[in-house]
Amino acid sequence: MTHHHGDATDNAELVTDPVCGMLIDPATAAATREHDGTTFYFCSIGCAKAFDADPHRFGHPHR
Ligand SMILES: [Zn+2]
Ligand SMILES: [Zn+2]
Repeated sequence: MTHHHGDATDNAELVTDPVCGMLIDPATAAATREHDGTTFYFCSIGCAKAFDADPHRFGHPHR
């Protein structure tokens, strides 16, 4: 199978976990949630659950 960039993944686009503020790689995120048309990525199931409980508490971007 073809992989689109030969080797290094160190320039991967990182995203911020809105709950704990940790930078994570979307490809290895432990959990994702879609809210209001935006996908959020989480370092752990625990962070995703905290987000589920009250998404707006975490100041996610809104239109
Ligand atoms: Zn919202
Ligand atoms: Zn987290």
